[in-house]
Amino acid sequence: MSVVLNAPWITRQTTELLTQRGHAWLLQGPSGLGQYELALALASAWLCEKPTEQGACGECPSCHAIAVRTHADLAVLMPETQMMELGWPLSEKAQAEIDDKKRKPSKEIRVEAMRDAVEFSQRTDARGRGKAVLVFPAERMNTVTANALLKTLEEPPGDVRFVLATEASHLLLPTIRSRCLAHTMKWPQADEAMTWLKAQGVPDAVAQALLRSAGGRPTDVLRQAESGLSPDWWAALPKAMLQGDARHLADLSPAQAIDALQKLCHDLVLRQAGADPRFFEVSQLPTSQASVTVLTDWFKRLMLSARSAEHPFNAGLMLEALTADAQQTLRTQG
Ligand SMILES: [Zn+2]
Repeated sequence: MSVVLNAPWITRQTTELLTQRGHAWLLQGPSGLGQYELALALASAWLCEKPTEQGACGECPSCHAIAVRTHADLAVLMPETQMMELGWPLSEKAQAEIDDKKRKPSKEIRVEAMRDAVEFSQRTDARGRGKAVLVFPAERMNTVTANALLKTLEEPPGDVRFVLATEASHLLLPTIRSRCLAHTMKWPQADEAMTWLKAQGVPDAVAQALLRSAGGRPTDVLRQAESGLSPDWWAALPKAMLQGDARHLADLSPAQAIDALQKLCHDLVLRQAGADPRFFEVSQLPTSQASVTVLTDWFKRLMLSARSAEHPFNAGLMLEALTADAQQTLRTQG
């Protein structure tokens, strides 16, 4: 049984990183290339009892402990929403607070969790292979949390290693970046992504269409396929926006809707420049008269909306506002 998604491009990078020494890695690059998977592969290999050049063996007690999310020498630091999504248990205290409805799961990495991790890194390891701290997405640390980590990164207790993964390394404290060895995520080869998605149970036709909509990023495709976004839905998106049909976005979170609209905007800009679209087929795009300036302004508004998308006042209203803005933009002449 494998403890990580054994995608070939992830394994290649695991092998590459394992040949280098370093107690702290920063994995960076665009989303959807498997940063979390690589971070977990690396941490698993560090803690594995019989690691190979390719990484963790997947069979030993350490690998099993990671597979069931109970490894005593691995601390995982993520926003609580992300931990729940990826199946990592919260601390007892945090879980009780959420169960008792005292607060909602956090979308940032909490300073309490960081304090636990700092304490963890000072303890003796339980299994004799050292310890690992995984931070993802690292840009979800606020300044207080980041500073707490920084101290540990500057004076690491002997046997602890860190792997931070981020889709936005420019948002990290420069002092954090400078304490880590940086690795930029590599893209899979064209056929690898398809083969891998097939192995994850995504049908060929769906994989092909979604790879296009996800700009070739396979783990984004997997998440899209799992959330039920079909190729037909994607193909119909531009025209639904032209018609102002907000119901088309109903199954999306505001953040997902903004991402989809940014891709639409991106492709319309490419069309204006006479280039091939990247995320949609030409036939799926409306013949919009909107100029590059109008489209660029729309893109900027979408970026602004993305900032508040995490805490929308009302998700339904936000989707309606996004649709209305999209429709107006697409209907602008010049
Ligand atoms: Zn193992």
